[in-house]
Amino acid sequence: MTTAHTGNYRPGRSAAIRYLVLHYTAGRNDSAQSNLRYFEQNVVKASAHYFVDDLGWMQSVDDGDTAWSVGTAGIYVQKHPECRNENSISIELCCRYATGQYAFSKKTVRNAAQLTRMLMTKYDIPLGNVLRHYDVVSKHCPAPWVDDESQWLAFRKMIVEELDMTKQELLSLADTGDHPSDWAAEAASWAKQMGLIQGDGEGNFGWQQPITREALAVMLHRFSQLQTENA
Ligand SMILES: [Zn+2]
Repeated sequence: MTTAHTGNYRPGRSAAIRYLVLHYTAGRNDSAQSNLRYFEQNVVKASAHYFVDDLGWMQSVDDGDTAWSVGTAGIYVQKHPECRNENSISIELCCRYATGQYAFSKKTVRNAAQLTRMLMTKYDIPLGNVLRHYDVVSKHCPAPWVDDESQWLAFRKMIVEELDMTKQELLSLADTGDHPSDWAAEAASWAKQMGLIQGDGEGNFGWQQPITREALAVMLHRFSQLQTENA
């Protein structure tokens, strides 16, 4: 739900969400909560959808509303041909500040990777459409990832690993037990008896888990062998 002041964003969207844009708050040891409060109480004609800190993330502007985050404001030069406020979600990372430099904590980066991965999945956004503010217009944002390109590359790698992790979690049989749904109980019991579907040897069958193409191929192959044996 949008909490930002109505003077900081435009309700609704005129285009589908296709890009995710990462920013830094340029705050000095700030928090997601303090940023939400700031954009609720001050009219600055600027906003972002999410603020991320060590604890997680908070939403300031709803995904369905247009945050004012990546415009040129008459100051910056447009660099990206397509990414605009209308078709992007903006994510701000809270900052640490010491000796004249901004930095992101490991936890904040990890949380931002999780949020980014979640939004990529939700809106079917490819990694190529995950950008720094700096890639959209000529603004030095997020400073830690413009000053040190390797940190930005490490973040992108983390996103990919997060995606793989989610897939693995989804396909894992661990702790799923042997609990087919009522409507599938008879078929599940038959498939088990026929040896078509085998658990992990520890009583986990993952009846509600999705199935990969290769696992399906193995099941069909087993079935065809049974047909041959019984012929
Ligand atoms: Zn920015």
